[in-house]
Amino acid sequence: MRLRPAVAAFVSSLSIASAAVAADVVTVQQGGVGRWTGLAAKECGIYGKRYAAVDAVCYYPVDIRAKPGVHAIALWDQDGRKHAGTLRVEKADFPDVQMTLPDTLDRYLHISNDDLARAKRERAAVGKIIGGTLDAPSFSLPLAAPTASLPKSEDDFGSLRTFDAEHRSLHSGRDYPVPGGNTVKAVADGKVVLAGEQFFSGNSVFVDHGDGLVSMNFHLSSIAVKDGDVVKRGQVLGKIGATGRATGPHLHLGIRWLGKRVDPALLLASPNALPSVADSPTEAQRKIDKAESREPPEKDDVDDEG
Ligand SMILES: [Zn+2]
Repeated sequence: MRLRPAVAAFVSSLSIASAAVAADVVTVQQGGVGRWTGLAAKECGIYGKRYAAVDAVCYYPVDIRAKPGVHAIALWDQDGRKHAGTLRVEKADFPDVQMTLPDTLDRYLHISNDDLARAKRERAAVGKIIGGTLDAPSFSLPLAAPTASLPKSEDDFGSLRTFDAEHRSLHSGRDYPVPGGNTVKAVADGKVVLAGEQFFSGNSVFVDHGDGLVSMNFHLSSIAVKDGDVVKRGQVLGKIGATGRATGPHLHLGIRWLGKRVDPALLLASPNALPSVADSPTEAQRKIDKAESREPPEKDDVDDEG
């Protein structure tokens, strides 16, 4: 049906108004990070947490297993004024991968009670530091590459791995096929919150970068830092190896932000590629306003992968 000019003008002014409201929505895939551009931000809010903006931009991490649904997000501008928005979580397609471990890694298939107890202790220790501190961010985006020459990673973030049809493990980081012996470097300034040998992840270094951001480097052949060390961006943390449940030398890089498991590759690339409130498509705002914001349930908090 054709609208008469006067009606058409009225309708189009309405749609402009609703587009302005609906622009406060960002759609983010599981394991992704949303942002809010166009307003100089001081602080940000999601999941009931309030934290600092990074270089005046708000970022909103979404866990790899976050339930599709909506969350309230907030941005406090430089004058302290609060802006409310909505983040919509979209399901991502992650692959299922069958893996076979060589005989030399049999202890990861037939895990002894001692090793199980050890892995449980390590899981508890990691649980204490993985949420990060909400100190001021000591990083900018993109993060620095963790090795001098970073090859393309396997497309393995989020894959559910089944080892010899027995054990299953969610791969919540990325594996970079860097040859053994190369140095591994801090992706940003920070503080070493855990450095040591672990059952599944081998020689591991966890660095807290403030603002809830924690980076993890697994399977190193040697570690060059210790708990409590303050490190600079690019500082050597250790060397590439194949310790723990690893079939060969590589770097496993994992990132937690506000405790959420996000794709490290997204933070090593330009943040301009991340979905933003400002460039989200128009959506049915009323539906979203009615929906409750829900915290995703806590999932297995361990990166027991190789
Ligand atoms: Zn890995």
